[in-house]
Amino acid sequence: AEEQLRQAQKMEAVGQLTGGIAHDFNNMLAVVIGALDLLERRLRQGSTDVDRYVLAARDGATRAAALTQRLLAFARQTPLAPSVIDVNAMVLGMIDLVNRTIGDDVRVETQLAADLAPAMADPSQLENVILNLSVNARDAMPRGGVLTIATAMAAMSEADRVGMGLAPGHYILVTVSDTGAGMAPDVAARAFEPFFTTKGVGKGTGLGLSQVFGFVRQSGGHVRLDSEAGHGTTVTLYLPASSGAAAAPQSDPVRRETLPR
Ligand code: ADP
Repeated sequence: AEEQLRQAQKMEAVGQLTGGIAHDFNNMLAVVIGALDLLERRLRQGSTDVDRYVLAARDGATRAAALTQRLLAFARQTPLAPSVIDVNAMVLGMIDLVNRTIGDDVRVETQLAADLAPAMADPSQLENVILNLSVNARDAMPRGGVLTIATAMAAMSEADRVGMGLAPGHYILVTVSDTGAGMAPDVAARAFEPFFTTKGVGKGTGLGLSQVFGFVRQSGGHVRLDSEAGHGTTVTLYLPASSGAAAAPQSDPVRRETLPR
């Protein structure tokens, strides 16, 4: 019965998802078709001043392609290839990329813990996750602000560790914080849901945070969200340290625990 309920809930979620995606995708196609219609009309009239219709069509098609790419990546659930990561070095190595991605209005700061133990996770996925979180931070700070990427070692109480469903061992914390708009409680409650977005058609896919969630759970870690409307957001990743009794990766990231608050 429990299995059936879960299946029914899954089907309901899939129904909602496909509806939302079909809607977004349709809007993008409408842009392409509209631009091609105008292009055809102008060409029939003998006009050669058609650049903007070509550009509009390409823009719509590019967005649609990006959406399907993200969907494919999400559906594929690329198996993780964990290895030993010096997270501080990774963060430092990403600063240029992060700066280029978030633009001039946001200042990037780092607070890296000295003597940080290495983490055990898939390095390219971790980079993706940090980049996703940085893009979200930028989107939350349209008039600028500070993005802080910090690392730390976890000194968690047993109660905290068990509450997060983590195995015994040490954890490496990576936090990405912004001084942006923050989230209202109802948004924060749904932020990790696949395809939940407040960013509008063609802008958000709502897959960023659900990917973050899938990644940490598959890595035997945890993600924590602290956000307050008007004050900013902090996302904390807990990743198993590579030495000691690190958690075994889990095959199904979502089943064991409810979504984090
Ligand atoms: P997307 O960014 O495509 O909307 P996400 O899953 O990354 O998808 O985020 C879901 C929603 O959570 C966003 O639409 C936004 O409302 C909220 N959110 C995520 N990160 C932040 C942040 N740093 N500050 C404020 N709101 C955020």
